Formats: sequence, C-alpha cells, structure tokens
Amino acid sequence: MMLGYLLARAGVEVTVLEKHADFFRDFRGDTIHPATTDVLAELGLLEEFLRLPHTEIPELRLGVDGQTSGLVDFRHLPTRCKFMAFMPQWDFLNFLAAQAKPYPAFRLEMSTEATGLLRHGGQVTGVRARTAQGDVEIRADLTVACDGRFSVIRDHADLPLREFPMPIDALWFRVPRSEDAPPTLGYLGGGQIVLAIDRGDYWQCGTIIGKRNTPADSGHGPARLPGSGGTCRSVPGRRTLRADRLGPNQAALGALQSAPPLVPARPVMYR
Ligand SMILES: Cc1cc2nc3c(=O)[nH]c(=O)nc-3n(C[C@H](O)[C@H](O)[C@H](O)COP(=O)(O)OP(=O)(O)OC[C@H]3O[C@@H](n4cnc5c(N)ncnc54)[C@H](O)[C@@H]3O)c2cc1C
Repeated sequence: MMLGYLLARAGVEVTVLEKHADFFRDFRGDTIHPATTDVLAELGLLEEFLRLPHTEIPELRLGVDGQTSGLVDFRHLPTRCKFMAFMPQWDFLNFLAAQAKPYPAFRLEMSTEATGLLRHGGQVTGVRARTAQGDVEIRADLTVACDGRFSVIRDHADLPLREFPMPIDALWFRVPRSEDAPPTLGYLGGGQIVLAIDRGDYWQCGTIIGKRNTPADSGHGPARLPGSGGTCRSVPGRRTLRADRLGPNQAALGALQSAPPLVPARPVMYR
C-alpha cells in the first residue's frame, strides 16, 4: 500500500490488488516506530495520522517477577515523535488507502485475488486475478509481489524460497483492561514472557509457546492445549480458541496477575 501511494503520488499509474474485502486482520502487533512516523512527517501525513485513534508509548517497561522497570525510552530519540505509536494495522492501511485515493494514478481493487502471472517473451507483463465478476488480466510494466508470506506470485515467478526452522509460535489472547493499568509492555516470570499491548478496554497479549505445545486446533469441536490439562473450544472459521484453563500459560498469566490490575478472566485466544 505504501509503495502504491508513493508511485501514485509521483504520477505513476498503479493498481493495488487486495484479495479480501477489507484490511481487517486482528492480532498484528501494530507498532509504528519513530522512524516510520518521521517518514510520515516527510510525506506531510503525520498530522492527519496522529488524529487517528492510537496509543503513544514514550517508554517501554518490563515487569520481571512482579517488579517493573524501564526497558526502552523513546524520549531521547532525535525524531519528531518521541514515542512508539500503537494503532491497529487495518486503521493504518485504511489511512494510507485514503491518502492515495485522491491521486488519479491510484487504483485500489479490493476482493481481487492475483492467481498467476502474465508473461510475454519470457517477461512478466502483469497478473491474472479472480474477482466476484470473473477472472481478469491486469497488464503492467512492473509487477510487485507483496502478497504476504504465502505469496502465490512468488511461486509463479519461480523465485527461490529459503525457509528457516522456527521452534516457537506466538499465542495471542485478550485480557480485560482496567483504566488504571500501567502501560507495561512485557512481563517475564515463571519461565514465560507475555507482551501486553494496550487496546483501550483490553490488552492484546502474546506469549511464546514451543511448536510442540501448539494447540491441536482442527477448527472443529473441542481441542486441548497439549500437556496442560486445559480445555479449548474452537470456533470454526475464525480459528479462535476459548480456553477455560490455560495450562502452560498459567505461569505467563500469573506474571500478568502479579502486576495488578491485569486480571485474566476466561480470555479468548487467537492464533
Ligand atoms: C502476530 C503478528 C504481529 C506483528 N507485529 C508487528 C508489529 O508490531 N510491527 C510491525 O511493523 N510488524 C509486525 N508484524 C509483521 C508485519 O505484520 C508484517 O511484516 C507485514 O504485515 C508484512 O507485510 P506484507 O505486505 O509483506 O504482507 P501482509 O501484511 O501479509 O500483506 C499481504 C496482503 O496481501 C493480501 N494478499 C495475499 N494474497 C493475495 C493475492 N493472491 N492477491 C491479492 N492480495 C493478496 C493479503 O490479504 C494481505 O492484505 C507482525 C506480524 C504478525 C503475524
């Protein structure tokens, strides 16, 4: 989206394809760093950006076994914004799309899924895409694959993929938040780490779990957190886990509890 905005602003005709009907992706980290807000300022977008609902964090604090202390202080940075901003990723993408829209060279096609590449004489000349009205061909001098980590365009372009084995997963869940909760970002304790992102009336929390501990979520019916004794219920379609007891994450939630007033109550968990 940012590339589309920059190209359109420079007068280059650009079409951005998005396979979904919106940009709603819950449980992204949503940090917008001081270097990024500097870029927005250079583009003349900062004031409007800061009018969107967001949280400004001038300092990151870490709680270790119930004691919290400063970890990172943005107030010393030589940047315009001396804080990290938290904003849902979909708000940020909608904002960029709205900024790009007035440029006549910009076109955003939602619900349009790139399915393959067009080629001519060995060169990529655009993409094939699926829309509700049927398949279309979109020709371009330059095709940029930015369709995420499971990029079909990368596959069609035969670009080599290097995979790195990853022994961990991040498990995200919500914890109700009270008004006077401290703006602490991370909690360490009991061999666990929990990140807690202020989302107004709840904390978006993430914790690290081993691959072997990933809940066996079939997408249907009850599942279990392996080794936990905790019971999970899956909501088909949303890949949502509701944990009655969290098992291996009890330690992590205990760390949250040891820094009141973060009190987990039957959190809804996503992955
Ligand atoms: C849980 C989590 C937390 C994160 N936290 C942060 C954070 O705090 N700060 C940060 O800077 N980064 C964070 N990231 C990383 C960040 O989200 C990614 O680096 C970034 O989204 C990658 O951007 P992308 O455009 O390459 O891919 P994506 O964001 O995945 O965007 C790809 C887009 O292409 C669309 N698409 C896919 N296939 C097609 C197709 N065939 N045709 C058309 N459209 C298609 C998708 O719907 C999607 O909108 C986080 C990631 C995760 C998973």
